[in-house]
Amino acid sequence: MNRTELPVNETVVAAQMAALCVPDARRVDDILSRALEMKGLDPADAGVLSMVTDENQLSKMYAAAAKVKEQIYGKRLVLFAPLYISNLCRNECTYCAFRASNKALHRRALSMEEIDRETVSLLKEGHKRVLLVAGESYPKEGFRYVLRAVEAVYAARYNNANIRRVNVNVAPLSVEEFRELKAAQIGTYQLFQETYHPATYHTVHLKGAKSDYGYRLSAIDRAMEAGIDDVGIGVLFGLHDWRFELLAMLQHVAHLERRFGVGPHTISIPRLEPASGAPLSVNPPHPVSDTDFRKLIAILRLTVPWTGIILSTRERADMRRESFSLGVSQISAGSRTNPGGYSTKEEENASQFSLGDHRPLDEVIRDVAAMGYLPSFCTACYRLGRTGADFMDLAKPGAIRHHCDPNAVSTLKEYLVDYASPQTRTVGEACIADQLPRMDEVAHKRTLAMLERVQAGQRDVFC
Ligand code: SAM
Ligand code: SF4
Repeated sequence: MNRTELPVNETVVAAQMAALCVPDARRVDDILSRALEMKGLDPADAGVLSMVTDENQLSKMYAAAAKVKEQIYGKRLVLFAPLYISNLCRNECTYCAFRASNKALHRRALSMEEIDRETVSLLKEGHKRVLLVAGESYPKEGFRYVLRAVEAVYAARYNNANIRRVNVNVAPLSVEEFRELKAAQIGTYQLFQETYHPATYHTVHLKGAKSDYGYRLSAIDRAMEAGIDDVGIGVLFGLHDWRFELLAMLQHVAHLERRFGVGPHTISIPRLEPASGAPLSVNPPHPVSDTDFRKLIAILRLTVPWTGIILSTRERADMRRESFSLGVSQISAGSRTNPGGYSTKEEENASQFSLGDHRPLDEVIRDVAAMGYLPSFCTACYRLGRTGADFMDLAKPGAIRHHCDPNAVSTLKEYLVDYASPQTRTVGEACIADQLPRMDEVAHKRTLAMLERVQAGQRDVFC
């Protein structure tokens, strides 16, 4: 792809940025009433909303986002854990502790036995969904290392439990390699552009393959060309103006929808966190305030209502709590960002960045359930082939709720029976009891039947 064919055109974004001004209340009301139709908004609308500062208008925006979120996702919140398999890296991303020049970092690439141990540790906690993460350099065998790692995660067992979905966040690949990744039965391929602003991109990616802006930006296209129809995009917020990143990301979404008939399955919104040996991370050039961050989440929810929004443990517990009603639909929990961190529990100098939320999974589940949200470990869609456009065909008319709600309840029930502390079990059971009467007849009936099967000892019950 040459520069003019890339999914995002900087000049277009710059023109949209130049047109931004603080909107009057009528304009905001008009956009919000259209957003409530849940058909999404144009990038221009998103730009207008990004300029809102009036407290009253902001409250209306958050209320609209909460309404859209609830209509589409109900109370469900999907949980996963990152699994860092290696921190070897050839690149020089000035914000990341894994950067090649960080000699103080303890480097390691986990062996397949170690990956098995890590996975078993996650299984013992009750996890079912994993995001496999690696730096951009592999042991001798090259990219095959990632394929073997995916296989090792799926193969790991603890008391008959296994990881049911492995999503992957690794360096951009060729179409051929993406085909191999698809054949390894991954869930989502996830890749963050970090910044869509080319000049900033080149300032912070000094060396290695990642310094090629275009190769990274075209990676999601290659993944989709290879048949991976479940992709995740993201920005590392703090590197450049968040409004520019938002508008550029929406252009990326529109490009994928145009070219492949379906946009990204998820959008991740990491904010830059302090990382050892990476001074830029301590002093982000464009820090995103909590107020702007709330706005960003709400705008994304209103603009791309059917796209999952992922928030990691980079964020503090209080921001994570707030984010659920604003639009976040997936969170990680109990995370470690150093390879081997789950099974060794060592606080060695090998982590990628510092975390804002250190609570174990059990505590996060208890908290989420006590807030009235429904923690879910569901992996049904991907295993039944409901991905990409097929997923959207089911999701947009609302029929997906007849699957999501029962699956959320059955996976939560499994968690409560097999892994939860007594305290969490009590809160979780109350949460299930609270959800049942809210379901429509189809979902309610299905859920009761599935709960019975879980109660009787069956596992991995889904529809
Ligand atoms: N090495 C691959 C890459 O760069 O795409 C994949 C894994 S990388 C470890 C995953 C993500 O971590 C990066 O895409 C980046 O957005 C994020 N990251 C790096 N340094 C960070 C920091 N200091 N704070 C928050 N997120 C960070
Ligand atoms: Fe390496 Fe990824 Fe960190 Fe960059 S962000 S230094 S590519 S691990």
